[in-house]
Amino acid sequence: DVTIQHVNKTFGQKKVLHEIDLTIPSGRCVALVGPSGSGKTTLLRLIAGLEKVSSGAIHFGATEMTRVAPNQRGVTMLFQRPLLFPHLTVGQNVRLGMKAGHKQEVEQWLDRVGLSGRADAFVHELSGGEQQRASLARALASRPNFLLLDEPFSSLDLPRRRELRTLIRRLTEAQGVTTLLVTHDREEAMAMADYVYVMEQGHIIDQGNPVQLAEKSPFFGDGVHLSGEW
Ligand code: ATP
Repeated sequence: DVTIQHVNKTFGQKKVLHEIDLTIPSGRCVALVGPSGSGKTTLLRLIAGLEKVSSGAIHFGATEMTRVAPNQRGVTMLFQRPLLFPHLTVGQNVRLGMKAGHKQEVEQWLDRVGLSGRADAFVHELSGGEQQRASLARALASRPNFLLLDEPFSSLDLPRRRELRTLIRRLTEAQGVTTLLVTHDREEAMAMADYVYVMEQGHIIDQGNPVQLAEKSPFFGDGVHLSGEW
């Protein structure tokens, strides 16, 4: 499990995270939802080791994360916009994620994300959705213990979002990858996550599994079937 205990984060005078407690069980998908500026990305960056906690602890199993160098944590992030090297082919990009990448394995990953036979295409020859799927292939090819998704669908239209959502869910479940999804889209959180935390102004204000939240939280209840932008 990944456990976050009493985490606070301050930038200068500004406190952006207050006593955050959160658990992501191994192999599960947890979503963090909340409006813009509530602190979601900051929390993600703390887990990835891109920022330091002001106080509190983050554990990966029994190991305190801050004792492990960021590149040793087995954490991979997928961002809003696909992060690919434009001067490389799709296959070369995927191979970058792998420790020892064989051509055949690259092909397998491209297969899994629906990009069969596109290994030799250049990044600019792919649509936005295809680029995001190539990014996903690269992220998963690195065999992460822990996948951090920061609004990975926001540049896509609704059908493509749904498609990629299902694909991510299927692949992370098959591989047992522990996943944290940050989003301000309620529908997305409800559709993808086993458990949801709601953030507002640096505080966790609510939590539960999707069914519990739909029952008790008015803004969850009425938004489930809509494309619920916050
Ligand atoms: P969004 O959905 O818009 O990405 P968010 O919930 O991810 O929002 P954060 O990006 O974590 O929110 O920002 C939380 C607060 O922390 C904001 O008020 C932001 O201005 C502030 N903040 C984030 N990074 C820094 C920084 N490096 N220095 C100062 N303030 C920061």
